Amino acid sequence: MENSPIEPITFDKTSFFIKRDDLLHPHFGGNKARKLHYILNNRFDIEKIVSYGSMQSNAMYSLSFLAKKRGWEFEYYCRINENLLKNPTGNLKAALKNRMVLKDISLWPYTPPKELDVLSTLLIEKERMVVPEGGRFKEAAFGIKRLADEIIGWAETSGVNPTVVLPSGTGTTALFLQKFLPFRVKTVACVKGEEYLKRQFFALEKDERHHPQILVPSKKFTFAKPYKELLHIYNRLKEESGIEFELIYDTVAFFTLLEKKEIKKDMLYIHQGGIVGNESMLQRYKAKFGKIS
Ligand SMILES: *Cc1c(COP(=O)(O)O)cnc(C)c1O
Repeated sequence: MENSPIEPITFDKTSFFIKRDDLLHPHFGGNKARKLHYILNNRFDIEKIVSYGSMQSNAMYSLSFLAKKRGWEFEYYCRINENLLKNPTGNLKAALKNRMVLKDISLWPYTPPKELDVLSTLLIEKERMVVPEGGRFKEAAFGIKRLADEIIGWAETSGVNPTVVLPSGTGTTALFLQKFLPFRVKTVACVKGEEYLKRQFFALEKDERHHPQILVPSKKFTFAKPYKELLHIYNRLKEESGIEFELIYDTVAFFTLLEKKEIKKDMLYIHQGGIVGNESMLQRYKAKFGKIS
């Protein structure tokens, strides 16, 4: 994979920088491509990838792409929503096209998902590789190290001493970035708030000095739920910058950055892709609010 570009961008009348990880690859861009880098680029004697999570997850889609590329089967356990399955869109549609096999989570035959969370590592048993939900495993560090090296190279040539900002789900990306970068990393908690994110950080790194700074929105957004304020941010970002951002993480991140006045000229924001998921989110927005712009 080539390096992704870093470009200037203007939003809310402020110019800053954006790392276009959304452009890494048309079908395999962004956060999950970085985290799955290790799996994509090493030899494994397996026939199947197994994972679990939500039915619209970005990780699910990225794993389906990876499995197809490596010629492995992909089995994904989730709570199956029959209505979604009848009319798949976004990540689900794309993953099914990549021949993902869906299974009900109650049939999960491996280590219980909870325990896997504690392990935070890839599990290879027999011909299968079990990948923890959302790509939260220690080996994700390989791809994130590369992202960090790209940022360091850019900082050296541009002379910018950036504050690196990104939204967090599991916090894996933000944590390893802070570990590998000599710059300050700030991350917006988009899933379940600050306590949850701290626990995630500690599961991967005991030394708190390597933890990123956490920003929390004043409003409690339920993860992946449509909100008028967030749609407004999505539309504003697109209009003012000309770039499409992702509706679940980026919108919460910019909502928070705006209210905390954190958008500054030395900010380097990581656009972590996930645009494929916008299709299904925009449908939900339309269903809830009627119009979307
Ligand atoms: C998965 C994902 C995240 C969250 O990444 P973590 O490493 O789990 O914090 C953020 N943005 C996008 C677009 C994602 O797909």
